[in-house]
Amino acid sequence: MEWSTSQKMYSKAKELMPGGVNSPARAFNSVNEDPLFIKKGTGSKVYDEDDNEYIDYVASYGPLILGHNHQRVINAIRDQLDSGTGYGSPTEIENLMAKQVIEAVPSIEKVRMVNSGTEATMSALRLARGYTGKNKIIKLAGCYHGHSDSLLIKAGSGVTTLGLPDSPGIPTSIAENTIIAPYNDLQTMENIFKEFGDDIAGIILEPVAGNMGVVPPLEGYLAGLKEITEQYGALLIFDEVMTGFRVSYGGAQEYYGVTPDLTCLGKVIGGGMPVGAYGGKKEIMEKIAPDGPIYQAGTLSGNPIAMRAGYETLKVLKQAETYQKISKQSDKLANGLKDIKEKTNARVTINQVESMVGLYFTNEQVYNFETAANADNDMFAKFFREMLKAGIYLAPSQYEAMFVSLAHSDEDMENTLDAVETAFKKLF
Ligand code: PMP
Repeated sequence: MEWSTSQKMYSKAKELMPGGVNSPARAFNSVNEDPLFIKKGTGSKVYDEDDNEYIDYVASYGPLILGHNHQRVINAIRDQLDSGTGYGSPTEIENLMAKQVIEAVPSIEKVRMVNSGTEATMSALRLARGYTGKNKIIKLAGCYHGHSDSLLIKAGSGVTTLGLPDSPGIPTSIAENTIIAPYNDLQTMENIFKEFGDDIAGIILEPVAGNMGVVPPLEGYLAGLKEITEQYGALLIFDEVMTGFRVSYGGAQEYYGVTPDLTCLGKVIGGGMPVGAYGGKKEIMEKIAPDGPIYQAGTLSGNPIAMRAGYETLKVLKQAETYQKISKQSDKLANGLKDIKEKTNARVTINQVESMVGLYFTNEQVYNFETAANADNDMFAKFFREMLKAGIYLAPSQYEAMFVSLAHSDEDMENTLDAVETAFKKLF
């Protein structure tokens, strides 16, 4: 496989943008490769500037659950373009979209559209703090909620220590209000609330953690968090930017039957356009301006192109059998990986929740950040390269989920699994 055009473009890009990219993971630094420059996507495939074809599991990092270039979504965008790109005034499509989201997601009675997942979680935290009058937020190790200051925080040495900034530029005074707790550990969470409960505004988490691979919540974990937050008058915030409309139409909260106070959305609800949203109980959402005193705004929020793309995506997802079809291919991928692991004695662990599939290069069970962090990154980098050469496009980290879409076919799965088997035989 030849990548010279991508390489040339990357050299140019490095002169123009930090790291040659507009978002760090795209640079492929973690696997010591040059990134591919993609020029086109159709269905389950992407094509790079050297005209190589790949079966894609990146899906624009999650939004493209219908696959690339889905005609209904593209037509909806085209249709809007005839009327312009946006007005900074209310539009009917915002009503339609809000109604669709409210009907789908159990916790959402009112919703506010924003432009990214980062904005959604940042705004939800402000709301949680403003509503409860408390300052501290609990964030779980290994969960990613975008790059706002309060959420780009790492744990200190002990699990209950106050947070330390994960990046220069974040004042420790902000980091101090973020407490880091381990995922899937109710006992530690209870201890944190015993110590700091009076000043905790809420817990934010990914109900299925998709930014440390794929880590499902253990039985009873989400319900346990709900109980603790209710007991202490804190809010439970599900960051469903990745899981919303992906693990099921109503998100992880519907899938696991636990309803949070606030929910953050993004990715799928924009149908590939830049979107985020946050919503929840009416009495909480009514504290937001202009109804209430908590300020949050956006020049392009509710942009009609993004709303049309998202609305059309949700309509396709709502059709009977859409999720069954996606599930069928997702199970085929996950079960196929497990079979190949047995056959080749590969030291890997496969986690799956519906169309989020995680593959870790470790023999150990992965249920939190520590166990995920034990996985072998060098081995992943080798595997990544083998897959790329075989025409399979994965995110450049084993801490990103593989996303299956409606466009993945039986043939795609067979080709993918063949490539994995060849790679494992070579690597193990
Ligand atoms: N929350 C979650 C769970 C995410 O996966 C992401 C992005 N990967 C974000 C928030 C941030 O979203 P964005 O990149 O759109 O700001």
